[in-house]
Amino acid sequence: MMLNESVAIVTGSGRGIGRAIALELAAAGAKVVVNYAGRSDKAEETVKLIREAGGESLISQADVSQAEDVDRLIQTTLERFGKIDILVNNAGITRDSLLLRMKEADWDAVLATNLKGVFLCTKAVSKSMLKQRSGVIVNISSVVGLSGNAGQANYAAAKAGVVGFSKSIAKEFAPRGVRVNVVAPGYIITDMTETLPEGVQSEILRAIPLGRLGRPEDVAKMVRFLVSPEASYITGQTFCVDGGMDI
Ligand code: NAP
Repeated sequence: MMLNESVAIVTGSGRGIGRAIALELAAAGAKVVVNYAGRSDKAEETVKLIREAGGESLISQADVSQAEDVDRLIQTTLERFGKIDILVNNAGITRDSLLLRMKEADWDAVLATNLKGVFLCTKAVSKSMLKQRSGVIVNISSVVGLSGNAGQANYAAAKAGVVGFSKSIAKEFAPRGVRVNVVAPGYIITDMTETLPEGVQSEILRAIPLGRLGRPEDVAKMVRFLVSPEASYITGQTFCVDGGMDI
């Protein structure tokens, strides 16, 4: 139980990668705040799974792109658990289209959730983490933020932004014992990727040397390592979990 007595917030943990991270951290002993935007049914399922496995969990609705929501998420956590040791900025959306057809609203929505959300949540937890002189933040980017991808200019810009943001904050927070790292998943089987057309899926598979799409648990295990004391000398880094893709 490497994370015993730790308190973790995982944004967007009702489904997909976020749920796997929440379960993994809870299994390692952390008390986990399960955040979601609109799907309360899914978030309740995550909480139920944690509790059935003997873990402790709290559910909290908050749109990470809204400062008041984020402040409420942090307040609720502090009132219930008294501290925050771990923040995983996982919440994310896609609004894909080629640039010529990309609507300004699609640009704004993706940047608001995927980049501004990371800024708001990080800023909101930083006060208590810097004061307690410990804490770990893991931001979920994407290989697309490192390589670019036709049809995902908004998403790639936001995810590349997460890398630059994280490297900067890692430098700011290091003197106070707070670590910040990035995990960049490749193609992981979740609601986000299941709508990909058959042709695109087989093309993606050909680009993955390990020959399969990733599972949410593949990402969650990397996150668990990074937030654990075993990673105490690692900050400001980006780790790809992508089956060996050439990016
Ligand atoms: P997903 O299955 O679509 O789940 C997204 C989660 O984010 C949901 O829990 C959703 O909440 C939450 N969310 C969305 N907007 C939010 C907001 N404004 N405030 C709070 N929560 C919000 O996605 P996923 O595939 O697990 O992706 C998780 C993260 O990994 C994202 O950052 C994504 O960009 C990144 N990623 C995914 C892949 C992949 O292949 N799947 C690859 C690289 C990176 P509700 O359930 O309430 O809607």
